[in-house]
Amino acid sequence: MLTPAEALARILASVADVAPLKAERLPLAEAGGRVLAEDLRAPRALPPFAASTMDGYALRAADADRPGAALPVAMEVAAGHPAGRPLPRGTCARIFTGAPLPRGADAVEMQEEVEREGEIATFRRAAQKGRFVRPVGDDVQRGAVALAAGALLDPGAIGLCASLGRARVAVHRRPRVAILPTGDELVPLGRRPGAGQIVESNSHALAAAVAEAGGLPTILPAAADEAGALRRALRRARGFDALVTCGGVSVGERDLVKAALAEAGAALDFWKVAVRPGKPLAFGRLGRTLVFGLPGNPASALVTFEVFARPALRALAGRPGTGRVELAGRLALPAPLEKPSELTVYLRVQVAPGEAGPTFTPLRTQVSGNLSSTTGHHALAILPPGRSVLKPGVLVRAILVRELP
Ligand code: AMP
Ligand code: MG
Repeated sequence: MLTPAEALARILASVADVAPLKAERLPLAEAGGRVLAEDLRAPRALPPFAASTMDGYALRAADADRPGAALPVAMEVAAGHPAGRPLPRGTCARIFTGAPLPRGADAVEMQEEVEREGEIATFRRAAQKGRFVRPVGDDVQRGAVALAAGALLDPGAIGLCASLGRARVAVHRRPRVAILPTGDELVPLGRRPGAGQIVESNSHALAAAVAEAGGLPTILPAAADEAGALRRALRRARGFDALVTCGGVSVGERDLVKAALAEAGAALDFWKVAVRPGKPLAFGRLGRTLVFGLPGNPASALVTFEVFARPALRALAGRPGTGRVELAGRLALPAPLEKPSELTVYLRVQVAPGEAGPTFTPLRTQVSGNLSSTTGHHALAILPPGRSVLKPGVLVRAILVRELP
């Protein structure tokens, strides 16, 4: 059986073939959080003119080369209001932050260092060439790559795009993800379950997880545990960048998803990973569509999505890595915890900061069929293979999957 690391490596190798997705051009207001698919060159320098960084007086530094120099104030320049003429020699200009230096001036002195009486400004200290001046191109040189392809459009990057005059930018498309629940027992949300039935919930949980990973989810109607129904459902998944099925991948005789995928022509890479929750976990490709066959238990579906599908969807969108932080901390346990030695076990834990590092407290129940065990945690603590007993207080790593309170 593959370890989670081996399984993820295989998934990412397969994704590399189809990722990142093609670019689309978006208005800047819709591009936040996307990944740039082009190099953005600066059509002009930033700042485009030498600007004052202070409220004060602009001058030629040579005209006040020692403390106590007094110069007449010949003009006033404010942000957005450049001087109409060069600064006459032996004079200074009243200037405000963001205003262009008048031609000839090469320094600014802050107003706190200047005494003003009528039309005369007296400089308390010697002026210094370049002081409180942002030179042309100080931020970005004209023609330089201001943002390279692959950059995440965080708020600062969006501001940079705007300052370069870009109203639209090319970004990688978000992956379109079909979610296919399977099971005879499932009724859609909004219908009252009959005898032996339950409301189909995984597709809704997974759709939220897909959106959080940067994908565009589409929930397909649940397919019955029957070859024909699955075959028809899989046809509807054509053209999506990824298909996430849930349920029907274990070895029970009603578990027909594997056979249906094979029949549809999917190239299946693996069917089992040495993890809990989620040992039956499939990955393959149906043409260009990535296929994740997740287990049906709600917690198993969400944990395996987090560990295996999320990094793949991010790669499609041009964002490498999981985008999660890993923490080291102590596992708070009432008693030693046993686990199968060959499995990597992911425990849903709450994280509490402490002076000696964080503490990870497992949710009361880790039963993967319980929906209430799928919420309220902050992290997935990783219990590594090769160990069958973990003692209270043992140091482990955890993937932070939620904000800390
Ligand atoms: P399976 O993997 O199909 O054997 O399903 C395992 C467990 O998860 C069973 O108890 C199913 O009823 C439940 N289950 C499977 N799919 C869903 C779903 N989409 N929504 C809620 N529960 C599900
Ligand atoms: Mg089932």
